Amino acid sequence: MIKNADIHFNNLGTPVADDFNDVYFSNDNGQAESDYVFYQQNNMPHRLQNHDRAHFVIAETGFGTGLNFLNTWQQFKNHLASRQHHNQEVHNPAQQNVQRLHFMSFEKYPIRTDDLQKALQVWPNLAALSKQLLAKYPINLAGCHRLEFDNGQITLDLYFGDVQESLATISYPQTGIIDAWYLDGFAPSKNPEMWQPTLFNSMVNISRSNATFATFTVAGVVRRGLADAGFTVQKIKGYGKKNEMLIGSLAHANQAQSAPPYLAHQQSSLKNVAVIGGGIASSAILYSLAKRGVNSQLFCQDRHLAMGASHNVQGAVYPHLQAKNSPHSELFAHSFLYAKRLYQQLTEHGFHYDHQWCGVLQHAIKQPLVERHQNIAHKQLWPNELMHSVTPEQGDEIAGVSTGYSGVYFPLGGWVNPPQLVSALFQQANTLKPIKSHFNCDIEQLEKTSQGWLLLSQGQQFGPFSDVIVCAGEHSDRFVQTQALPIVGVRGQVSHVQASPASRKLKTVLCHKGYFTPAYLDHHCMGATFEKNSKSRAVKDQDNQKNREQLLHFYGQTDFASSLGAITTAKAAVRCSFIDHLPMAGEWPQQSDYIHAFANLRAGKRYQYHPLQKPQQGLHILTGFGARGLCSAPLCAEQLVAALNNEPQPLSERVSQAIHPARFIVRDLIRNKI
Ligand code: SAM
Repeated sequence: MIKNADIHFNNLGTPVADDFNDVYFSNDNGQAESDYVFYQQNNMPHRLQNHDRAHFVIAETGFGTGLNFLNTWQQFKNHLASRQHHNQEVHNPAQQNVQRLHFMSFEKYPIRTDDLQKALQVWPNLAALSKQLLAKYPINLAGCHRLEFDNGQITLDLYFGDVQESLATISYPQTGIIDAWYLDGFAPSKNPEMWQPTLFNSMVNISRSNATFATFTVAGVVRRGLADAGFTVQKIKGYGKKNEMLIGSLAHANQAQSAPPYLAHQQSSLKNVAVIGGGIASSAILYSLAKRGVNSQLFCQDRHLAMGASHNVQGAVYPHLQAKNSPHSELFAHSFLYAKRLYQQLTEHGFHYDHQWCGVLQHAIKQPLVERHQNIAHKQLWPNELMHSVTPEQGDEIAGVSTGYSGVYFPLGGWVNPPQLVSALFQQANTLKPIKSHFNCDIEQLEKTSQGWLLLSQGQQFGPFSDVIVCAGEHSDRFVQTQALPIVGVRGQVSHVQASPASRKLKTVLCHKGYFTPAYLDHHCMGATFEKNSKSRAVKDQDNQKNREQLLHFYGQTDFASSLGAITTAKAAVRCSFIDHLPMAGEWPQQSDYIHAFANLRAGKRYQYHPLQKPQQGLHILTGFGARGLCSAPLCAEQLVAALNNEPQPLSERVSQAIHPARFIVRDLIRNKI
């Protein structure tokens, strides 16, 4: 569990950490010191105009009050404004003007929001940015919280947890990901646990060639540690009255990578991208691409968006958490929080979709669930804001109807209208970078040529594209190249039932074996059925019956369920999932290529392999979200694009491996089954 910082404010108004007896920033103009030590001494003004790519990545130890982040964000805005104003030319064509800033920061003891608000009040010139940070400041969940500002020009990956432990979870390629380090953190004398060789060695693992660092301290342990790890180390004049500080750089990335070669994610040029599909995964990937200014086109077999599995009238949004800190739970917890921020931001930007953040209550409808919920509560795995257990009385109070069940409550959850949401997200993407859309366009074939990928549909040809991302749900395996996708299709039908005076009192989404939503347009969504091996999208009367019977089975004694009116309409679709209940995001490998390259996995030799030929390079999969796409698609889309674009990835290495498209091939090779 993440523990908050206990702080007080000294007589100059500077926040002080009780446990470390050290200030968060200097009593004497902390912002100027932050700017001098970290921003200027990492040579940021020059590097933002002369970088080898369009995004720049800073990593910081100790987020604290976020002052370094806010100052850097402010300076980056100035950089963008002045570039626009002067429209300066870059002399060296290999060097670019940075368009997006990525700031990663690690914090073991997050400051409470009210303390943070107070601490940041002393910087009126940063007030507009502080307000935005405070609005998105995460709950106390360990791991990476990806926060986006200024339409994705600024990304803050705020890791809650010990910096050394967090660095060990990061997914990174051989080229590294970090361009500059802000080594903050309390003084080594007051916080010796942080300034350890493991920190310096991890820094080297994930740094790019020519990465720099700057730090206020000149302590021997830091000087020697950084030098031993491979950085040059130089003392320079410190800020104001301070005599010294340290700067340095790393000449070459050390070629380490976090993943074994068979589960490493690929990179790509992302010059122009074809996205196939029309649901939440498509909109999410188009949004992630548009933020980065990537040209993309949408191909959808239906006449408009969200006619497949994203077509329900009300979809519940909440994380699926297990009673253990598994990759599955980690994925869903962070995906949910990311999706919620994204969906809220859509509303703030004026993109409308019907929704209610009314919470989601999962009822313990049988004894094993009561025990499971108690187990989750007992282990205190999740912050209360994310999920907490409730007694029957508390649950009924939340729900506004009387059921008698205990359960777990997700206060941040709720329901959205998925077709409107998918469309709003698409509109937002389209305003960031116009997207050419092809509706009623059923892509039948994919063809790789020396120019790139061609998409063929009824005599028409589109492309070439550098990349194709297949987000076509249950249809994702329809191409020759993707037919080995081990899709499990599960048909689901949701019934729309007329509300009654008693059922209109329901204030939250109820989950039992299925789900039941608060009234919307005077109907409730009641569902859903789960039927494997059926591809039918036709509505069936007997499925409507099943949905009602199921609800009455669990809630038959309650007024709200027994008084419901007629089922007026229903919707059915086939959800796409995989056997491990995890989605898939990444380049889709050709099985024969993999089997050849990693044949030695059969003998347990993980690092003896042939290079991959990658005949399908540029073909990616983003699907398998089952009934949980509203929760998990946005962060998985972001993960896929970040990995392809060689940026910091929002998902940890273990989660990124868990959703890797090659995982089933690797599993079968290791078991000697193929
Ligand atoms: N950069 C901050 C700012 O702009 O406000 C000030 C940082 S403050 C001097 C040091 C921070 O490092 C504190 O917030 C502290 O909780 C954090 N910290 C200390 N040890 C840590 C560790 N092992 N891992 C992560 N954060 C740590």
